[in-house]
Amino acid sequence: MDTLDLTLDERHDLPAELLRINARESRKLFPDPCLVELKGRSEETVFVSVLLHGNETTGFSVLQRLARWMRNHPLPRTLLIFIANVRAAEAGLRHIAGQPDYNRIWNGGDSLEHALAERVLDKLSGRRLSAAIDIHNNTGRNPLYGCINSLAPDFLHLASMFSPTVVYFRNPASVISMALSRLCPAVTVEAGRPGEPAGVERAFDLVHDTLHLSTFRQSGRDCDLTVYHTVGRMEIEPGWRIGFTPSSDAQLLFPSGMDEWNFSPRQAGTHWARVSQPGMPLRVFNAARQDITEHFFERQADGLILVRDATPSMITLDTTIIHDDCFGYLMEAVDLDNQQVMAAEI
Ligand SMILES: [Zn+2]
Repeated sequence: MDTLDLTLDERHDLPAELLRINARESRKLFPDPCLVELKGRSEETVFVSVLLHGNETTGFSVLQRLARWMRNHPLPRTLLIFIANVRAAEAGLRHIAGQPDYNRIWNGGDSLEHALAERVLDKLSGRRLSAAIDIHNNTGRNPLYGCINSLAPDFLHLASMFSPTVVYFRNPASVISMALSRLCPAVTVEAGRPGEPAGVERAFDLVHDTLHLSTFRQSGRDCDLTVYHTVGRMEIEPGWRIGFTPSSDAQLLFPSGMDEWNFSPRQAGTHWARVSQPGMPLRVFNAARQDITEHFFERQADGLILVRDATPSMITLDTTIIHDDCFGYLMEAVDLDNQQVMAAEI
């Protein structure tokens, strides 16, 4: 890898060559992180960020769709695009080893990447921002959903333009959407797995529709939304072998295709996993890293039982991710008509 020179390039067009390369080749056109400003009829600006995670390529595909669309459609508003971790994209990685995660650098810090984030935020100050959209993918099977950091009507409206399924969170505070939420309605879209056409389509439509929307709702809602908030993060204890097929001899055996459970409510009493040796193989932590396992799971003779209603999300079957990061999250629905302080959110 070449030395980390965190230049922030700036340009004012999407080059035609964009349509002939893929995300891993993005450095041919964007050798460094880049802000692309495309002037629209109005100075009001929609901010879009892509490739904060280098292997989440849907944002790059959305740029290609935009480039094609703009050939014969004028931009009603100015579009400011941040093309973020191009080095990680080149390597096909979330982020380069030894480098911070580009979606954890937005609330101050000492690294080169934090300085880059500051420069991007500086470029936004003083602008008339109408909305911010950060485009991501996830690894397991999940529905398309948006994440917001405020339950204000304009945030809910923006998220609902992408999907009726929404996740509200305030932690980690270092994500870009949290910084942008202080400036305008902001949403992080989780557009399925990288490259899935439905996710590209929907994310493009969201950018397109936001560019054309005259105003966000300032009160109420006009569609049915399910808003979840995360209450716990599931982690597997070290030393446990995990399996997902009935023939597996793993000590911790989950149902096959368990990522289909994502965003599907589970009742108390659900059999969560077969466990064939003593001990508690899975722990649940809240945002404060308190162990809240016993609120959710009970160890019985041969398995693990869910003891209260919960909705899983981001369960992945990829054992590398499970061991490096986590198994998934547990969520509960937010009562939008009776919002309470959600102290346990993560
Ligand atoms: Zn991501």
